[in-house]
Amino acid sequence: MGEKPDIWDVLIVGGGPAGYTAGLYAARANLKVQLIEGASTVSQITTTDWLENYPGIPGGTGGFELVEMFRNQAVSFGLSVTQADCTALLPAAWEGRQGWIVQAGEQSFNALSVIVATGAHWRKLAVPGEERYTGRGVSYCATCDGAFFRNRDVVVVGGGDTAVQEAIFLTKFVSGVTIVHRRERLRATAILQERALANEKISFIWNAVVEEISGTETVTNVRLRDAGNEKKIWDIPASGVFVFIGLNPNSGLVKGHAALGDDGAILVDPQMRTSAKGVFACGDCTQKLLRQVVTACGDGATAAFSAQLYVEELKGVAY
Ligand SMILES: Cc1cc2nc3c(=O)[nH]c(=O)nc-3n(C[C@H](O)[C@H](O)[C@H](O)COP(=O)(O)OP(=O)(O)OC[C@H]3O[C@@H](n4cnc5c(N)ncnc54)[C@H](O)[C@@H]3O)c2cc1C
Repeated sequence: MGEKPDIWDVLIVGGGPAGYTAGLYAARANLKVQLIEGASTVSQITTTDWLENYPGIPGGTGGFELVEMFRNQAVSFGLSVTQADCTALLPAAWEGRQGWIVQAGEQSFNALSVIVATGAHWRKLAVPGEERYTGRGVSYCATCDGAFFRNRDVVVVGGGDTAVQEAIFLTKFVSGVTIVHRRERLRATAILQERALANEKISFIWNAVVEEISGTETVTNVRLRDAGNEKKIWDIPASGVFVFIGLNPNSGLVKGHAALGDDGAILVDPQMRTSAKGVFACGDCTQKLLRQVVTACGDGATAAFSAQLYVEELKGVAY
């Protein structure tokens, strides 16, 4: 017979605000907990230059620095962290106890409970030229790529918080930003709207959608279409196109095990339980109203506490 497998009480997939908060709570509850953060992906918040709406940090902080603080705090309480891209979740049982195996390439991890905190990725425009010019003018990260567009004109597509915030950030480098939005007004928070509307480097094209991105080696032109009149099409010159039109939740790991919403987000109850026993989810990968750091942290804490109660029940040590 083989050796008894190493079994974690809680396995957390994802190293963003949700995952690290879950890790902090699970580690402080003396659970045997392992967190796997993506090897080829990063927390979305590390791609933002600055955030100023996380409570308790007046003046704000860098996204990268904030995740570092989350990680260091959780690790100081005994959280074990490794980097790998998880590819599959399989049901398992050991000595009559139900659990899960998480596979990451050649590696596999056994756990009594799993907390999925895999975040989300940016939605694409799905227009001609977008794939071809990704990395050559088309970007989904102003912090990563903004400096490449020094003294050039760029387009930002979107009208929500992130689009407006990133457009303001881009004005540090570029000569001008045109925000193209498919509605007649912004959806972003009032304070961001005020700043963008007052910024001389930012102009707006309302009720328009991107039809095509074109260029030579790099982007030179963006073709727009009137959102209400498909025959009205015009071109604007631009060296860069930054796309911030919403998110697709990273829910592939639980597909087939846990219920997903129409938008592909993982459905959870108020205790962050998915429909799969022993599998919890938190943060941007779940179906929720507000995808922000502060809500991801709250979800993570709840998921860890729920997983703790579940594991204690499973082990017969609940009180
Ligand atoms: C440009 C930008 C600006 C933003 N500005 C703000 C702001 O000002 N304020 C604010 O509150 N929020 C802001 N947000 C939103 C905020 O970043 C998210 O709400 C938050 O990061 C969600 O946390 P999360 O832990 O759920 O997911 P994420 O932070 O995205 O973390 C997901 C983690 O899962 C990992 N992962 C994914 N798939 C796998 C896999 N298969 N295997 C292993 N690991 C995996 C990733 O590597 C990552 O570590 C911004 C987002 C962006 C993109």
